[in-house]
Amino acid sequence: MKSVDRHLADILATVRPLAPLEVDLERAHGTVLAEDVASPVALPPFDNSALDGYAVRAGDVAGTPVVLPVIEEVAAGDSELRAMGPGMATRIMTGAPVPAGADAVVPVEWTDGGTARVTVHRPVPAGNAVRRSGEDVRAGDIVLREGAVIGPAQLGILAGAGRRRVLVRPRPRVVVMSTGAELAEPGTPLGHGQIWESNSFMLAAAVQAAGGEVFRAGAVTDDPKRFLESLEAQLVRADAVITSGGVSMGAYEPVKEALAPLGKVVFEKVAMQPGMPQGFGVVGDDEVPIFTLPGNPVSSFVSFVVFVEPALRKMRGLPEGPPVTVRATMTASLRSPARKRSYLRAVLTRDAQGSTVAPVVGQGSHQLAALASANALVVVPEDVTELPEGAEVDVIPL
Ligand code: AMP
Ligand code: MG
Repeated sequence: MKSVDRHLADILATVRPLAPLEVDLERAHGTVLAEDVASPVALPPFDNSALDGYAVRAGDVAGTPVVLPVIEEVAAGDSELRAMGPGMATRIMTGAPVPAGADAVVPVEWTDGGTARVTVHRPVPAGNAVRRSGEDVRAGDIVLREGAVIGPAQLGILAGAGRRRVLVRPRPRVVVMSTGAELAEPGTPLGHGQIWESNSFMLAAAVQAAGGEVFRAGAVTDDPKRFLESLEAQLVRADAVITSGGVSMGAYEPVKEALAPLGKVVFEKVAMQPGMPQGFGVVGDDEVPIFTLPGNPVSSFVSFVVFVEPALRKMRGLPEGPPVTVRATMTASLRSPARKRSYLRAVLTRDAQGSTVAPVVGQGSHQLAALASANALVVVPEDVTELPEGAEVDVIPL
């Protein structure tokens, strides 16, 4: 049997980072920056007030209380070039430019709030409540580097530095297809021998959580011809395809029957539990990577975590590697099959004492409810068949 590491290495050797593409900021969330972005101007662009109050010279309010004439008012957005002399005050709002000649802002709370004259009750040091130009970013500074994942804060600084379009590696577009004559769409009645189709919803959400854009194709029956037709129709919009079901050893294995003859998808047994039957390769003229995952829901989920998510990371231009693990202490003993790496569904608890992990009841590869109650996978190495309570283990947080 092929090892998990070998299978992942083969996958990562095949998939490529997606080509960079210029997108509008509105489309950039969740993409990965493919250029260094510099700010064309200093940020803030001008000295401005951090609060509502009075712009003064700090020296004028050293001996309080002191009364100063209020010469004018300046609000955020004010575009006049203003200046004031000694012994004066300007009423100023948050974000408004500090007039030339002033070197500090007195909070309105430390004054009587006057409009013609103001009484200042407390002195302020020079520079008080003034946000200096360039204090966040100097003109020409790089604000975000190539390889940064664009989340909310990163979008904020891109916009804040005046960018409307950015060069990014886009979210991979992933088609999710499920196969099985027994599958009924959730929300429709269940006939005898049928189950509600769950994998495509689960895998679609997993793709989105992994930074992909997903197209959930309707489930197809166990006819290889129908499967191929549906696959071909979906390929136009795919950077990758995920199928579930139809790859085991029985009869009616449409994915295997349809793809094996094409010679570019390899079906093999990987030494893992759950998830032994795996297939990976490329399809279509564009050689789109295809992951043919086993149909058992927990198997397809674990296969996604172990193989597909690392591949999507590479496609997004992120550093490649296996799923990230943390160390935790087992709160119960467990058994694991020999010569297979197992991924046991578990609850990981982190507190001040450290991390502990407890396998959930229901480790069958069809037991989706047990999976849904877990928040982690305990990774048990191939050569380990038993772990006592108190053992230190590697855990993939979900
Ligand atoms: P297969 O890999 O097609 O032999 O399917 C293995 C098991 O997973 C069978 O019990 C299927 O009924 C079940 N299964 C396959 N596909 C799905 C799906 N999309 N949703 C829920 N269960 C599935
Ligand atoms: Mg099937």
